[in-house]
Amino acid sequence: MAKVLPLPETKYGLWARFVTDLYEHGKRNVPRSIVQEEMDAIVPSIVESYEREPEPPQVRPSGNLSCARQAYLLEKYGTEQDRDDGLGATFAAGHFFHALAFAYCRAALPPGFSLETEVEPEKMPDWWPDRPSFRQTGHQDMVLRIVDEELAGRYMAEGAGSTCLVDFKGMGRWSYGKHCNSDPWDQPDGFGYMDQLAVYSDGGTLYDELVLAGINRDQIWKPVKCRVIPNDVARKAMFRLRKGFEALVEGRDPGTEFFMRWGKQAEFICGTETTQGACNQSQNCRAEGWAV
Ligand code: SF4
Repeated sequence: MAKVLPLPETKYGLWARFVTDLYEHGKRNVPRSIVQEEMDAIVPSIVESYEREPEPPQVRPSGNLSCARQAYLLEKYGTEQDRDDGLGATFAAGHFFHALAFAYCRAALPPGFSLETEVEPEKMPDWWPDRPSFRQTGHQDMVLRIVDEELAGRYMAEGAGSTCLVDFKGMGRWSYGKHCNSDPWDQPDGFGYMDQLAVYSDGGTLYDELVLAGINRDQIWKPVKCRVIPNDVARKAMFRLRKGFEALVEGRDPGTEFFMRWGKQAEFICGTETTQGACNQSQNCRAEGWAV
């Protein structure tokens, strides 16, 4: 029998705090049966992690969005063939951490709320390009809603809103530290976390609160770190994405957009003369002319 989250001394004014407590309470009290269900559910996804990208490779909400040139080059060249990033293992580990998070939150969810995981959006936003190089489906990690105001109102303060979209990210120790302390308005979002939330919330319009939940995969005992991503941050990301998509649709090279925005801070993604960055188009990018 699951032990749900106890009533708080002070009601939650932010969903991010509610999700943090849900996760942490569930971590300590999750029944074995719920862990089993979530683990059984991810077996196909773990196996798929090791399958090759479909041809042609596609831009998806969870990848190749942080720089307009990534999508442009992906459409032009496909994925760089000689990279060995161990991506299969990374994706598989991601599924594992997500499944644990789902188990914890499900176990601790009190009555009055609904919790859905791996939610497929009914449709992609109108501004998401409808072309073969763009995947037309996706998965939102977790959507929480108030379904009984009286029951949920024992937890949530007035004004917190009734819907919340949560995106869980497994992060290395260094990225987790950055995630805990960075300003969502002003950080090089090299893995496109804000962009993904922008797509799934249609520029911050679909949910009352957007939460980016960082799981420290190097130190799994550390608490989940839930940050509120203001809807206006998602709106700003949407405008940047739309601008890049317009260039792509018109066949224009948008240039080394991420590097131009962040300079030295972009090196982790773009690489340097001597190091390869995390961007899966960094070699093609250099071949096209780095100084565009
Ligand atoms: S290397 Fe940097 S500038 Fe070039 S496509 Fe990748 S993210 Fe963009």
